[in-house]
Amino acid sequence: MQANWVDFRAIKQAVTIEQVLARYGVKLKRSGKELRGKCPIHQGEGTGTFHASTEKNAFQCFSCGAKGNVLDFVAAMEHCSVREAAVKLRDWFSVGGILAAAAAREQPGNQLAPEEEAGERSEANTPLGFTLKGIDYSHQYLSGRGIDRQTAEYFGVGFFPGKGSMAGRVVIPIENEQGELVAYAGRSIDGSEPKYKLPAGFKKRQVLYNLKRAAEETEGLVVLVEGFFDCIRVSQAEYPAVALMGCAISEQQEQQLIANFRQVVIMLDGDEAGRKATAEIASRLVRYLWVRVVEVTEGRQPDELPLAELRLLLGSVFG
Ligand SMILES: [Zn+2]
Repeated sequence: MQANWVDFRAIKQAVTIEQVLARYGVKLKRSGKELRGKCPIHQGEGTGTFHASTEKNAFQCFSCGAKGNVLDFVAAMEHCSVREAAVKLRDWFSVGGILAAAAAREQPGNQLAPEEEAGERSEANTPLGFTLKGIDYSHQYLSGRGIDRQTAEYFGVGFFPGKGSMAGRVVIPIENEQGELVAYAGRSIDGSEPKYKLPAGFKKRQVLYNLKRAAEETEGLVVLVEGFFDCIRVSQAEYPAVALMGCAISEQQEQQLIANFRQVVIMLDGDEAGRKATAEIASRLVRYLWVRVVEVTEGRQPDELPLAELRLLLGSVFG
């Protein structure tokens, strides 16, 4: 589990462009604040087209147009994805857990408290040793929310008639990146609190809801929504979708998106929190992915829209 974990920000902070250039045996000449020389990426004749800035920890080639940070450099040299480049850099320069945590702490604007983040990283959600039996996929609560039986069965979502903490709730199985069941969320259907019950100790930040299924449906474009039912409805409209289970994105969720998709359509709720989160998430993802935003009418959320309207909205960006 930990072997697959890479922290892009920590790597960008821990590894300098000079170290990476040195590893490839690239020799450049200093010119003011920059290092300049032949481009190791396109290997052209120009002797000054490639510029590396030690201050910005970035590079740019004015001939082939390649540019970016240490991750982009390695990705270009190795013809691999940014994620694969991050794994290589982590291994070459031993960017370990302690260093990663220290770097994450220094990063301004980090949404998580460092202790919380470090704690979450050290421990993954454990797969459940059981499944709930007797789930009713055609319960009227689902049809009331516009979810047909076929879709409910595909997601494993339905009314749980049995005993225990999920009794009398509509249960939503949550799987990790590998498709292992790690939790059930239980939605109350009679107005009782809490609206959603999640097991104590479930680490929401490590999971993008519906990731495995969506990644199997597409390597390209995915719709990013807030809630379970948004995700299920968008999927019923025949667009692959994943849900944040809230309107904040964690670094783990960000990296799961980057690793599995090339393009993301952000479609959060039509309220102030949704709009603020959209801007924040778009600015984080745009560095790695093609990002588009679909705005939902004020006061609405995607799962409340008629399928025809969902298709119309998404069709305009999917083309
Ligand atoms: Zn070049």
